[in-house]
Amino acid sequence: MSKKIIIGNWKMNPLVLKEAEKLFFLVAKGIYGVKKTEIVICPPFLYIEKLKSASWRTKKISLGAQNAFAGDVGAFTGEVSVEMLYEIGARYVILGHSERREMPVRLGGGETNEIINKKIKSALVAGLIPILCVGESSRDENHGYFNFVKNQLEECLNGVSKNSIAKIIIAYEPIWAISSTPDRRDATPDDCREMVIFIRKILSDKFGKDAIGMRIMYGGSVNEKDAESFLKNGSVEGLLVGRASLDPKKFVEILKIAEKI
Ligand code: PEP
Repeated sequence: MSKKIIIGNWKMNPLVLKEAEKLFFLVAKGIYGVKKTEIVICPPFLYIEKLKSASWRTKKISLGAQNAFAGDVGAFTGEVSVEMLYEIGARYVILGHSERREMPVRLGGGETNEIINKKIKSALVAGLIPILCVGESSRDENHGYFNFVKNQLEECLNGVSKNSIAKIIIAYEPIWAISSTPDRRDATPDDCREMVIFIRKILSDKFGKDAIGMRIMYGGSVNEKDAESFLKNGSVEGLLVGRASLDPKKFVEILKIAEKI
């Protein structure tokens, strides 16, 4: 039985620290008996330090950020650096999430593969584990979406050293399946497995045997009902969970499912 990793992406939720602490404690309370599954919660920046100090009760939950700036200190108004995140206790960082790639530049989004590449390299230097999100916005009959994901991987991982590559986690998140996408539809474990096999091939072509240890996860409206089939049939080592991670019962259920697989 292999060790799974489950990551909760809280996005810009909840509104107040008290709610964040409550959610964190309910998850911490519920995971008694979950021993081998790696658990990461990525709350908004503001809550990381508080939850880190609260996490003495459970060493089982690691904390991650949902974004970071590609640099250490300097005149970058409003940004948060990878070093700052490490300093306050984050050990993971989600990079290249589709909501950040697609958000208009005027709202702070518009992230390109080139920017994400810089962020990944900075995160590695700071000791953070990057969780690189890739995924197509739609599927076309000519299977052009494979090339789209290939290009994301190649540009985002360009110049990453072979020594560091195994530290990076890839999250395959088809945008058309994510809960925030209007008119979304469900992806199946088969959709996931097909892409994950393709991703492994791209990684192995680019990084050779150094890519063997890389973990690939799936994300896109995963819940307590389909988590098992994605973990069993999707060819992934873990799940990136958005909306369902805001419901402690659902998230704990997903963690228990991962533990049994
Ligand atoms: C995400 O956006 O990273 C995600 C997985 O969200 P959801 O589970 O809500 O689709």
